[in-house]
Amino acid sequence: MSLTRTLLRTPHTIACIGRNYADHIKELNNTAPSTPFFFLKPPGTLLHPNAGPVLCPRGVDLHYEVELAAVMGREADDLTAENALDAVKGWCVGIDMTARNYQETAKSKGLPWTLCKGFKTFLPVSGFIPRALIPDAQDAELYLSVNGEVRQQDSTALMLFAVPRLLQHVTAVTTLYEDDLVLTGTPKGVGKVVAGDVMRAGIRVGGREIEEGRIEVRVEDRVGGYGA
Ligand code: MG
Repeated sequence: MSLTRTLLRTPHTIACIGRNYADHIKELNNTAPSTPFFFLKPPGTLLHPNAGPVLCPRGVDLHYEVELAAVMGREADDLTAENALDAVKGWCVGIDMTARNYQETAKSKGLPWTLCKGFKTFLPVSGFIPRALIPDAQDAELYLSVNGEVRQQDSTALMLFAVPRLLQHVTAVTTLYEDDLVLTGTPKGVGKVVAGDVMRAGIRVGGREIEEGRIEVRVEDRVGGYGA
């Protein structure tokens, strides 16, 4: 029996937290931030369920990063850690696809991450998950498999900065609007995918799969576009 999914609506802003799980920071030889930091993905990266493959641009070392994302329920500025969750209407699971080779170049040259994070289809997402299905954002288990082999599987309890603190930080910088997304960082186990690979990802609460949070998406090579 297939679930009727509620698709996410197009966000104005997709804010993505970096370096929010200690073991992932280590695997990429980064240092832990003393305050949260984020970058933006353009809305054109969004790839809804059953909307086609993730497209790998030519010459790209394509990595997956499974993440829990908060879906904003209203316009929000200057949220506090205490009231931040009041502005969240739900969740989704997303895969922050990353052109890792371009990211390494950007890091070494001090250039923005727009290129390495911003290619179209670089954010496959699940359907909308009503907020009540994940009652505690710090007590869920994210997972991602490639061709049936589990690559990432960790509790959101391992986040260095909890979701309210992340929302406080982002809305201290800029206004978020209804349907905007805040991705909360990826646990350890990131790695490469190539054309033909199938990624499956999702989230469990109390050991139970949240059906609305499932992602299944194939990778294909992109024809044309940047680098072609
Ligand atoms: Mg990420």
